[in-house]
Amino acid sequence: MSDKSVVTRIAPSPTGAMHIGTARTALFNWLYARHTGGKFLLRIEDTDRERSTEAAVQVIFDGLAWLGLEADETPVFQASRAERHTTAVDEMLARGSAYRDYMTPDELEAERTHARAEGRVVRSSWRDLTPNDAPDRPFVVRLKAPLTGATLIDDQVKGPVTFQNKDLDDLILLRTDGTPTYNLAVVVDDHEMGVTHVIRGDDHLNNAARQTLIYQGLGWTPPVWAHLPLIHGPDGTKLSKRHGAQAVSEFADMGYLPEAMRNYLAKLGWGHGDDEIFDDAQAALWFDIKDVVGAPARLDWAKLNHLNNHYIRLAEPARLAALVADIHRSRDLTLHDDHLTALAHVIPFVRDGAKTTLELADATVFALARRPLGFTDKARELVTNPETRERLGRLRHALAAAPAWDVATLEGVNRGFAEAEGVGMGKFGPALRAALSGGAPAPDLAGALVALGKDESLGRLDDALSLNG
Ligand code: GLU
Repeated sequence: MSDKSVVTRIAPSPTGAMHIGTARTALFNWLYARHTGGKFLLRIEDTDRERSTEAAVQVIFDGLAWLGLEADETPVFQASRAERHTTAVDEMLARGSAYRDYMTPDELEAERTHARAEGRVVRSSWRDLTPNDAPDRPFVVRLKAPLTGATLIDDQVKGPVTFQNKDLDDLILLRTDGTPTYNLAVVVDDHEMGVTHVIRGDDHLNNAARQTLIYQGLGWTPPVWAHLPLIHGPDGTKLSKRHGAQAVSEFADMGYLPEAMRNYLAKLGWGHGDDEIFDDAQAALWFDIKDVVGAPARLDWAKLNHLNNHYIRLAEPARLAALVADIHRSRDLTLHDDHLTALAHVIPFVRDGAKTTLELADATVFALARRPLGFTDKARELVTNPETRERLGRLRHALAAAPAWDVATLEGVNRGFAEAEGVGMGKFGPALRAALSGGAPAPDLAGALVALGKDESLGRLDDALSLNG
């Protein structure tokens, strides 16, 4: 489908963390914009001035940048538009779709009590009074919402949802201090940003009804609505701290790649048949809001790990080397330039089993160590056993004479050596690996040899051969 007029957006409130649910909402908006050839916009809902610190806003920018979901235009800051929100309310007052409500706090309290007793929503008597009745005291401006009839939200995910207007109170648009309220600001901003599709969490479904009434009050057409179900933890309860991670930055710190997150998040509530693995272009081609599932999606760590392993195996070694180097540095390891080259060289040999870049980092430790290596007790025992030591000495000669230093050749050398010695590989393999790694996890023999290179491998073997038991 191509509809260049489609405009989607993500409108996060800066809270100091970017929740994984916000990331998924951003992804679905981004995918829908890509699918239609439309635009994906970003609005920072920073009207809570205390929470909306520069750092909290930066967390959102960083989260979106890490996920690779950058907006197509410069972000809109909601707080900077307060004046426009106010003039929109002036227009509503002029149209008669809003009114000044002068109820005092005591009167409001009394009305609340009545309303509760009568099982209805709060209604202000100022709704039907003319402005020349206005007293000289603080007022709020309220929406003059219809008292009868119903408001239909034809939600693309939930299906049609009907709200009885008698159950919707006259929403405050401007507070007594003249500041705009949340629902008003969202409507004015979405309209003026040209947003055609509001795709967001279903905690905002009730707001959709209220916002529709504001659209009508302004004489504007509401957008298409799509409310996404929450993301639950693996046990089916609302995602929380005890499920391991909630913030985008936590997933990044745990060693997940952004492309794996995109693939995984796309599958959280949406899917294309049985396809598990797909890239952005594929997802953009297939994605349609109508296919989003209405039931809450459950976080599944095994699936995420599986996908992450897939993307780790696909990634450029130099890119993984940079990521792994950062992890080593965060563990207080000093790395030099040649380490990066060594990492990029070793990564293809160790990445197959890595579910995260943290595991990948663990798997590269053996290659970064400087000679002479430290040995674990077990590794030392293996290489200093007299029989093994002699055999390792002969193996060292065989390896030094290898015609080439690649996996196939070295596998051949090792096999030939086993035959010549009349023993199985088990008789020297573990000792060779111990000599090359000091006991740290290391790939299979030929892999470890090639990862380390000829000089380093033979040097490590020499060091091991000169160890005292
Ligand atoms: N600022 C709201 C939030 O962070 C989103 C509002 C919207 O998408 O309409 O939950």
